Amino acid sequence: MFTSIAGRAVVVTGATRGIGKGIARVFAGAGARVLVVGRDAEAAKATVAELSDAGAEVSSVLADVARREDCQRIAATAAERLGGIDVLCANAGIFPERRLVDMTDEDLAQVFGTNLTGCVLSVQACIPALARSGRGRVILTSSITGPITGFPGWSHYGASKAGQLGFMRTVAIELAPSGITVNAVLPGNVLTEGLADLGEDYIRQMTAAIPLRRLGTVEEIGHAALFLASDEAGFITGQTIVVDGGQVLPESPDAVDPG
Ligand code: NAP
Repeated sequence: MFTSIAGRAVVVTGATRGIGKGIARVFAGAGARVLVVGRDAEAAKATVAELSDAGAEVSSVLADVARREDCQRIAATAAERLGGIDVLCANAGIFPERRLVDMTDEDLAQVFGTNLTGCVLSVQACIPALARSGRGRVILTSSITGPITGFPGWSHYGASKAGQLGFMRTVAIELAPSGITVNAVLPGNVLTEGLADLGEDYIRQMTAAIPLRRLGTVEEIGHAALFLASDEAGFITGQTIVVDGGQVLPESPDAVDPG
């Protein structure tokens, strides 16, 4: 039986939809108090209304994680409303498709700015509050793309997601004396609004390439994050959990759907 995390103060970036919203829902369902972070005011309002309906203490703050002042505002809002931060889920991310031959400075700045700089800035801003918690937890949403696999069209994205893990390994050491653990969840293909934007053909191909023959759910990523946030995971730091239905495993075409 896991120790309850009821009442813990949890910040989830990129929680106005998709995986972040799933993480927020799982933590709220476990009785945590959740601060939802994103840029879209309407989506943030809808997420708070939906998660609060179930009786959870959920609120939102509008912020762009690529901006230092916004990340500082996230931490200040958490201090004001939640009295601190026990868990930071640094999840905000984008995955626009672009082959390297066509990649512009703007493409690079956008993907690295949100996925890598945004991850670094949000963790950095929350360090004092996480240290005060005495059992601070940071959970990054990386990806199988980059750290484990390659995917044409996503070299910048893969670099940003692998970069998050390089960041994590050193920061886990730097923050260990403050009792903070830093780990990452590596999702495979999870059905989100962002993934749906890639089209039906993409979803069909990915489903066929997954040994469990389905895409993941956002809650399945949330449950992995919840485990890493638990007291029972307190001796795990600088590590990764792949949640992908076995997508990175196949060595033989027999493992995947021939179509
Ligand atoms: P999504 O449906 O597009 O949702 C992305 C979320 O990130 C939204 O809530 C968006 O909110 C927020 N966001 C984007 N840029 C932001 C910024 N600059 N500042 C603050 N919030 C920002 O994407 P998703 O599929 O849930 O992906 C979430 C994370 O999981 C990403 O890090 C992604 O790389 C990772 N991932 C996803 C999959 C997958 O299959 N879906 C697989 C592996 C990894 P606003 O629009 O309100 O700003």
